[in-house]
Amino acid sequence: MRQYHIFFLLFYFSSNLLSGQVTVEEERLQNIGESIGYYTDTSCNSQGDYKNFDFQKGESKVPLFEGSSCYWGKLELTNLSPEDKLVLEVYNPYIDELLLMYEVDGEEYSFRQGKNVPRSEWTYELPNLVFDINLPIGKTTTLYFKVTSQEQFNLPVNIGVKDQILNSNYFSLVFFGIYAGIMLVMFFYNLFLYFSVRDKSYLYYVIHTGFVLLTQTAFFGYGYLYLWSGSPSFNKISFVLFTCLVSLAGIRFFFEFLRVKRKAPSIYKAIRIIEVVYLVVILMELIGFRDLAYKILFPVQGIVALTIYAGSLKILKNGFTPARIFVLSWTVLLMGIIIFSLKDFGVLPYNYFTLHTIQVGSALEAILLSLALANRINTLKKEKEESQRKTVNALKENERIVKEQNVELEKRVKIRTMELQESNEELESTLSNLKETQSQLVDAEKMASLGQLTAGIAHEINNPINFVTSNVAPLRRDLSEIYEIVETYSAVNVENANETLEKAHALTVEYDFDFLKEEIDTLVSGISDGAIRTQEIVQGLKTFSRLDEDDVKLIDITEGLDSTLVILRSKTKDQVIIEKEYNEGFPMIECFPGKLNQVFMNILNNALYAVENKNYADGEKPTLTLKTVRVNNEVNIHLMDNGIGMDENTKKKLFEPFFTTKDVGEGTGLGMSIVFKIIETHQGKIQLNSELGKGSEFIITLPLRQPKDS
Ligand code: ADP
Ligand code: MG
Repeated sequence: MRQYHIFFLLFYFSSNLLSGQVTVEEERLQNIGESIGYYTDTSCNSQGDYKNFDFQKGESKVPLFEGSSCYWGKLELTNLSPEDKLVLEVYNPYIDELLLMYEVDGEEYSFRQGKNVPRSEWTYELPNLVFDINLPIGKTTTLYFKVTSQEQFNLPVNIGVKDQILNSNYFSLVFFGIYAGIMLVMFFYNLFLYFSVRDKSYLYYVIHTGFVLLTQTAFFGYGYLYLWSGSPSFNKISFVLFTCLVSLAGIRFFFEFLRVKRKAPSIYKAIRIIEVVYLVVILMELIGFRDLAYKILFPVQGIVALTIYAGSLKILKNGFTPARIFVLSWTVLLMGIIIFSLKDFGVLPYNYFTLHTIQVGSALEAILLSLALANRINTLKKEKEESQRKTVNALKENERIVKEQNVELEKRVKIRTMELQESNEELESTLSNLKETQSQLVDAEKMASLGQLTAGIAHEINNPINFVTSNVAPLRRDLSEIYEIVETYSAVNVENANETLEKAHALTVEYDFDFLKEEIDTLVSGISDGAIRTQEIVQGLKTFSRLDEDDVKLIDITEGLDSTLVILRSKTKDQVIIEKEYNEGFPMIECFPGKLNQVFMNILNNALYAVENKNYADGEKPTLTLKTVRVNNEVNIHLMDNGIGMDENTKKKLFEPFFTTKDVGEGTGLGMSIVFKIIETHQGKIQLNSELGKGSEFIITLPLRQPKDS
């Protein structure tokens, strides 16, 4: 169990070998560890009968106890010193509680001190446990004490007169002060460096050093005396807590300073795991498993110390120079610990040097590491210069590459530009081709409607012309008969009067002159009718085509509707009923009359197709309805049919060029797109209501006047 000393950095006790019963006579403070009788009371519940315990003499000056039991001590003391008051010092402020009892001249004394005892109960303002022994000169008494501690502990006990104790403590304080001074200088110096260099190593060093100092302050009792005297509960955990933090910060410093993650990854990983163990220890300490925490902590300290040592040696071997000073400082510290422990084992004598090797070691470590850190500035500077040089080189290289790439890029851009130009030209020619095709198609659509139109007109005109032509032959025949009668009459003279008149009269009778007159009348009026009808049709055609009018004109659009109907009449035959609901006094509107007629033509043509292709139920007749309505400054033209109607898809695509549901040759799919275009140029709108199987209605809305710029 003693091995744990190796890692117990901060032990301090003074010693002076004596044996047997203790007599205080010299002017020197004596260690009386080997003169005390010890008894371990595991049950810890014996109160009154302690005087009958089986006390065993101690085997060492500074015995080590397991903790978690009650330890009793007994000591026969005779005062042969010049003063009638002695003091007993327990040089370990870190035991939980020590209760001291003795009896002098029938008077009983009892005191208790320790880290669980409020500072106010302590007799002296000193870091260690110091008890007054009111023992007059020449007298003897028996001291009994009971020690409780949750953790393992050493029990260094000294005895002497008050001044000796005060002097020794004063000396220790000065020594500690020097130590603390060195550590604080290192602390602030490197803190300052951290703020100027901003390298994390400095920060970890500063934290590490700070906690080393705090750990020692706690362990030597200065913390409880000066810093947190009001808080026994914090005092209880301070040492283990600070020790863990020392190690955690030390580990972090090690990682950062020697770049362990990169240079010794396996060690890095191993220690990362141990870091967790430290956190667990801290947690256990905080929630009250202090004994266990303490027992885990020290072996872990040992493992970490050796791992760090191995790691730094490995990194040094790999040629990382900062590791040199690190190894040196770590060696110094470990030497200190080893010397300290050898003294504990009795190999080396107890003296002030062996007692303070750990402290000296940690101070030297702090100084060496601080030097290493100072040197690190140079390293950092060199690294920075190196990296700057590299950056400059890289930049130059980049520039070169960029230049090269630029040349390459320019080449490519040229090629691409040429390609683009080519494809642009191609596109342009494709576009003009397309435009051509489009206009050809539009022409085709026009031709198609023109074809229908011509057929319609031919048919229309054929009727009246037939009238005329079929009347001409009988008229000629009638006229020739009349001519014959007239010629016969005109041939009458004096010689043949009777004979000729008789002949003429006979002809008149034969040809039935009255009938002839009637028939000629009928034939002529037939011819006249035919001519008039033809004239009407020609007029309608003229109105419809308005080929002569490409400008905006004020016209009556009902005329346009009517002329379109005239053209379509051949198609409508008599089966289709045409209903007109023209608004009375419908205004003239400004438009391109020829184009608008094309709109009516295209829509009505579709409507006729729609009614022709529907099977009507009884009583229902194919009907087109044309309606005009004026609304304020606009006119609405409703063109309705009760034909096949349209499904949703057709409605959606109706105005798309080339959309058709008709068979090849029957439709071009351009009619409605042309309608849309024309209405657009008129600043108008076209709406559609249609239901499949019921019919369709187009509502064209046009402004009365065209805006100036159109
Ligand atoms: P096309 O008549 O050459 O097919 P349009 O552009 O004139 O081309 O018409 C496109 C389509 O719209 C027609 O194929 C038809 O399906 C539909 N359509 C147009 N008007 C009507 C209507 N009054 N009733 C039913 N369907 C119609
Ligand atoms: Mg059409």
